[in-house]
Amino acid sequence: MNIVFWFRRDLRLQDNQALTHAASLGTVSAVYAVPANFATLTPIRQHSLVESIKSLSADLPQGLGILNSLQALATFAKSQAATKVVATRAHDTTGMLEQAELAELLYAEGIALELVGSNYAVEPGTISKDDGSPLKVYTPFYKRWMQAGWAKPFVLDVKGASWGKPQGVGNYPVPSGPAPFQIKAGEAFALRTFARFAKRSLNEYNELRNRPDLSGTSHLSHALAHGEIHPRTLLVQLGDSGGHETYRKELAWREFYADVMFHNPHTLDDYYNPDYAAMRYADPVKDAARLTAWEQGRTGFPIVDAAMRQLRQTGWMHNRSRMIVASFLVKDLHFEWQVGARHFEKWLTDFDPASNSHGWQWTAGCGTDASPYYRVFNPTLQGEKFDPNGDYVRKYVPELAHIAGSAIHQPWLLIDGLSNGYPAPIVDHSVERDEALARLKALKS
Ligand code: FAD
Repeated sequence: MNIVFWFRRDLRLQDNQALTHAASLGTVSAVYAVPANFATLTPIRQHSLVESIKSLSADLPQGLGILNSLQALATFAKSQAATKVVATRAHDTTGMLEQAELAELLYAEGIALELVGSNYAVEPGTISKDDGSPLKVYTPFYKRWMQAGWAKPFVLDVKGASWGKPQGVGNYPVPSGPAPFQIKAGEAFALRTFARFAKRSLNEYNELRNRPDLSGTSHLSHALAHGEIHPRTLLVQLGDSGGHETYRKELAWREFYADVMFHNPHTLDDYYNPDYAAMRYADPVKDAARLTAWEQGRTGFPIVDAAMRQLRQTGWMHNRSRMIVASFLVKDLHFEWQVGARHFEKWLTDFDPASNSHGWQWTAGCGTDASPYYRVFNPTLQGEKFDPNGDYVRKYVPELAHIAGSAIHQPWLLIDGLSNGYPAPIVDHSVERDEALARLKALKS
């Protein structure tokens, strides 16, 4: 039986339920359809995706066929007289639309699309309250998620499987600019990254995970977003100690947001709590100067600027920093959360639709379990608390590298603090905090 396997956000061979299933059916030709929005991504995201698919292609005995569209995939399946196309089921808004589109194209050719498994330990949509309705709060979700449990990782005998020759091997999409640095990606790299993290930081994850100046998190978000590793592979290696338990809880946040997005596909770019749509917000066109300062890391608030530059330089940002810059954009500059989410989508190599939209909505006070809107992060105090020696700021903001210790978080107080061209704060935080609270009050009344 000829099977076409459609790789999506599951760019790995092992612990891939759908691929293991496809290999049990017959001869598998492995293909990847370049996402329709590829040209709109920043070079850093484009290169990160290309490195992932190159690495997968090198691991596949006959390589990975690169096709330009879902239509090209359907045409290829027909040319192979394929009985079916097999793929991992997507549960996010875009992924669900894509699989519906491909199913229709294949149906016209008399070919079935079989969707198997998911990118999650527990498939989104399967956990519910006793009355069958979806969970809206993380902690009860976590309890039921733990009770649901997960299968053992799926093992594929790569050499023993039968592989067909796909079309378009080596036809990688061309990024629109050079890679800013050498990007490492792929299944083997993801497994090595976890092994290194487990050895060095997992036991101290509780203490280290909030510090952007330290390398205390796993840096596996890119691998999880591209599916170079499945969360099951990680979960089965975790024990019960504090660090392990907290790490499992972070993986569960990813699963919770996927579940919320599955039940509320509109929340990809719309408010989970619609009340907040009526708030008074800044205008991205009229207030473009402030928005650009935030995007480029020139707000005059060192921790915000370090984080925004980390994003541009590395395609990744620490979780604490994501919360700080998101709070600053929404509550100090008064932009809608979608403005920031779209910027993150362009730059994050770990972009994940559910974690991004709901991470933003959490910070903006309009999501599930949201941090209340009236809790406004003070960027200076956040910097002093989570980057106590200023190392994170010094790393990404060279104009402030001459300032020692935590004084770096308020350079405007020092005689030579702004001497290297670093800007003064673009807003007064306490004034904008009051303004944010006034807008909330107006909304509530
Ligand atoms: P670790 O601390 O090692 O955590 C392990 C894994 O758990 C992560 O790789 C991730 O898959 C998951 N995880 C951890 N924290 C969260 C969280 N708060 N929400 C959901 N999953 C989590 N994560 C993304 O993967 N893609 C995004 O596009 C994304 N956008 C975000 C936007 C905002 C505004 C915020 C506040 C958070 C966002 N996150 C996103 C969540 C989180 O910041 C990253 O997952 C984390 O920083 C990745 O680094 P790590 O792999 O070292 O994480």
